[in-house]
Amino acid sequence: MLLTGKQKLERLRDGRTVYIGSEKVNDVTSHPAFRGGAQTIAELYDMKADPARHEQLSFEEDGERYSMYWLRCRNRDDLSKRMHAVKAIAEFTYGLIGRSPDHVAGLVTGMATRHSVLNDLHAGFGDNLLNYYEYARKNDLYLCFAVVPPTGLRSAELFPGQEREDPSLQVVDEDENGVTISGMKMLATGAVYSDEIWVGNLTPIDDKFNRESITCALPVNTPGVTLWSREPYARGVRHEEDYPLSWRFDESDCVLVCDRVKVPWERVFLHNNGAWSRRIYTETASNCYANHQSNVRFWAKMGLIAGLASRITQANGVAKIPGVRELLGRVAALEANIGGMVCGQIEAWEAWPEGFATPNRRFMYAALNWCQENHTEIIDILRTLLGGIPLQMPASVDVIQDPALKSRFEKWWSTPSIEALDRLKLYKLAWDLTGTEFAGRHMLYEKFYAGNSIVVRNQNDREAPWDKFHGIVDGLLAHSAKK
Ligand SMILES: Cc1cc2nc3c(=O)[nH]c(=O)nc-3n(C[C@H](O)[C@H](O)[C@H](O)COP(=O)(O)OP(=O)(O)OC[C@H]3O[C@@H](n4cnc5c(N)ncnc54)[C@H](O)[C@@H]3O)c2cc1C
Repeated sequence: MLLTGKQKLERLRDGRTVYIGSEKVNDVTSHPAFRGGAQTIAELYDMKADPARHEQLSFEEDGERYSMYWLRCRNRDDLSKRMHAVKAIAEFTYGLIGRSPDHVAGLVTGMATRHSVLNDLHAGFGDNLLNYYEYARKNDLYLCFAVVPPTGLRSAELFPGQEREDPSLQVVDEDENGVTISGMKMLATGAVYSDEIWVGNLTPIDDKFNRESITCALPVNTPGVTLWSREPYARGVRHEEDYPLSWRFDESDCVLVCDRVKVPWERVFLHNNGAWSRRIYTETASNCYANHQSNVRFWAKMGLIAGLASRITQANGVAKIPGVRELLGRVAALEANIGGMVCGQIEAWEAWPEGFATPNRRFMYAALNWCQENHTEIIDILRTLLGGIPLQMPASVDVIQDPALKSRFEKWWSTPSIEALDRLKLYKLAWDLTGTEFAGRHMLYEKFYAGNSIVVRNQNDREAPWDKFHGIVDGLLAHSAKK
């Protein structure tokens, strides 16, 4: 099924427990901190459900229609269709919502291309995964995930004497019905707007902590689940024009806190297996499908950045200066770089067991590394082009509500190339991408969403064909030996 925006909003009124500091949020669809984000997600669902976009954003299987991101690809054509659907979703949110509904759906879909891996580890767990995949796509679920133990609690072994009771999420009980989990896990981006949370481990864990390897899925409103939100950036915003991105695109980040939460066996996909808790994502197409979405999303964000960079130079009246054009040329090249990296993943696709297909994994991990390495500098180019102009704008668009102030503002803040109000809106937008709390959070997001840089480079190291590279060197050296 394809859910409409209205249906999506109704689902969010399910009694979930969200805290902002000590404040308990009763309804995320109407609370000022979250309603703008909820509305954006609802609009995204409406776009998907629009019959005019069926061909682009969904597919049919056995008479049922599913969102395109649930497609288990079998060839290059499937991969291309799926990539273009993900791009359309990313463009709809300007690449600013990282964990849009297609991200964790990709993780589950990728795993469902090879559920036998889970069955081999524990009879029946792979079937659970396949059933969950069917259930999630049938109900057009929005999934988020919390797959990292809380920082500061991972290295008791490295710091003997400093151990404390470990609240990292783990199984504390089990019976014939399922497991009971308690503890905390970070950082469930999008949880406030999701239907269910995937719990697992994208960081390796030691077999000694087998109980933490639990990999399962649970509805956000499950008794015992609470979401502890960071400061939501829309909370203090009075007018969309002042903070246009904070207003619409704050996807939320929450620590997942579980207090003796019951998870039935049919929702358990891995248990008591530290060694495999991370491998299940790389021995299946899971990690690749999910992070391919991240690459595509970054590409969409680069479109916004390039357009904004150019518009700023026009508004500043410097767009024709050769030195400025050179910088804009660099931004355009960076946008094309990531576009090429995404398309290359489809071009060099990989055939996988059981007739399935994935984007090229090495190219995908390389693109992750490229995005992580370059984002800060790219935003700094934008910041440099901005100069101090964002701070010359009045604090709020409400300046135009006072006739005397409006008249002065319109006269003095206009330039030959742009009217005062349009100028204010443009620089407020640019500031929300480069200077506000929303912008700061994005800087962190792009650095850490796929794990720290060591993790990302480790993935590149692991997938590299070192034997082939050694062969190149050895072949060259062999030339002199032949003489
Ligand atoms: C905005 C945002 C959204 C996120 N969304 C999600 C989400 O949806 N789901 C989810 O599960 N997680 C999410 N995360 C969490 C993310 O997965 C983690 O932040 C990431 O794995 C890094 O872990 P950490 O923050 O504990 O930092 P660490 O891994 O502790 O790294 C902190 C610093 O220490 C350095 N460091 C760490 N270990 C070493 C070492 N051995 N040697 C040298 N240097 C080291 C790192 O390079 C880094 O500079 C999100 C994070 C952010 C910032």
